[in-house]
Amino acid sequence: MASAYETVIGLEVHAQLLTRSKLFCGCSAQFGAAPNTHVCQVCLGLPGALPHVNARAVELAMRAALALGCTVRERSVFARKNYFYPDLAKNYQISQYELPLNERGRLSIEIEGRTREIGITRIHLEEDAAKNLHGEGLGHATLVDYNRAGTPLMEIVSDPDLRSSAEAEEYLKRLREILLFLGVNDGNLEEGSFRCDANVSIRPVGQVEFGTRVELKNINSFRFVRKAIDFEVARQSALVSGGGKVVQETRTWNDAQGKTLTMRSKENAMDYRYFPDPDLLDVVVAPADVAGVRSTLPELPLAKRTRYVSELGLTAADALVLTQHPLVSHFFEVLIAELQEQESDPTQRASWPKRAANFVQAELLRHAQFDGVRAEFGVTPDRVAELLRLVSAGSISGKQAKTVLTTMLATGKSAAKLVKEQGLSQVSDTSAIETAARAVLAQHQDNVQLYRAGKTNVLGFFVGQVMRAMQGAGNPKLVNDTLQKLLREEGT
Ligand SMILES: [Zn+2]
Repeated sequence: MASAYETVIGLEVHAQLLTRSKLFCGCSAQFGAAPNTHVCQVCLGLPGALPHVNARAVELAMRAALALGCTVRERSVFARKNYFYPDLAKNYQISQYELPLNERGRLSIEIEGRTREIGITRIHLEEDAAKNLHGEGLGHATLVDYNRAGTPLMEIVSDPDLRSSAEAEEYLKRLREILLFLGVNDGNLEEGSFRCDANVSIRPVGQVEFGTRVELKNINSFRFVRKAIDFEVARQSALVSGGGKVVQETRTWNDAQGKTLTMRSKENAMDYRYFPDPDLLDVVVAPADVAGVRSTLPELPLAKRTRYVSELGLTAADALVLTQHPLVSHFFEVLIAELQEQESDPTQRASWPKRAANFVQAELLRHAQFDGVRAEFGVTPDRVAELLRLVSAGSISGKQAKTVLTTMLATGKSAAKLVKEQGLSQVSDTSAIETAARAVLAQHQDNVQLYRAGKTNVLGFFVGQVMRAMQGAGNPKLVNDTLQKLLREEGT
């Protein structure tokens, strides 16, 4: 049965910008320092202290905005959002209100094979608040850590274009990925450097006006986003179907209880008494600045995936795995460039991307470690290229390559050195293979008779036995050829 209601969702993402210092002072913006060590008179809001804008933060927000198709305003204004809370020493937050830095963009998402364009209303800059640590002081008092106060955030506000929790999750994943590839945000949901509020409402199918919306605050995992939205849609539908009314409020997701709970009734924008901050100059961006930032934008994940399929002949699934992190794509691209550069045979050259993709996915990523924008592979692309060339030349088997990689990671030695040291390279030695093959055929005369009687599929059995005798070290093609040759010979 089709639902009588349509779901309407808009998302507000707060993404911490990867600057070294805070938005309006020179304090470090690094996460994880001892409490209240990254503070000064500006971010503590002491009287008379004057803020100044971090130009790098403006540049990073523009970078995100241009990648998302937004227009950068020539003149934007910082405004004070007034409210009292212990984590806000000035009693106002510096944000942007009427004239944000960036406006009107879009993000493509694909859901069940269908592409949808989700509008982006605006991307503005604002400072983060401090962090309250509830119940951690004497007598369960709340402590406040001001290290986070004043760290730079960009708020990315979507249009109310999303129609299901699955679409919301997809939008967030694609957005996080783009910010990571741009190097503007580390995408760390657990540390709160990428967090999301969802505005959720329902309306009868066919109705143009929006229903009353509920704001779901600070959801810190993709799974919770789906669960919180699904719960909220069901709660609102049941309420309205029963003749009730949705109340405009802010709710939070409680995962232990599996439901959303009321936090506070929703205040309206006018309650915050926004006004332009008299301590700060307007941000003025010249067209040349915009062009400068635009010229440094990298290839984005969606474009990369398309290119991996159309140019490199990879499957869509391969392309998705290889674009999961900017440094994985980078490693893969350097690796295939290295392999193709040293390959004179055009057929071999064309097949390297697929072979390299398989090895990166099956082996390299098993050992890789990720931490935000950083990634550690333990080995360089040129070392991996050398290893794959040894496999391609038949010097070692694919199975041996896995073991060699593990030893490379542990010892830092090159593949060629390890193969030599461990005496692995004799696998293409035909006499060694022939000796092993003769022994296997001698032991299995019954199967030899079957083969000669026309049951040629026992060849696979022989290959398996020879490989086992050689502990997986035989070159499979040579093993195959040798066995066939011996089986053709009389009196083996
Ligand atoms: Zn400071």
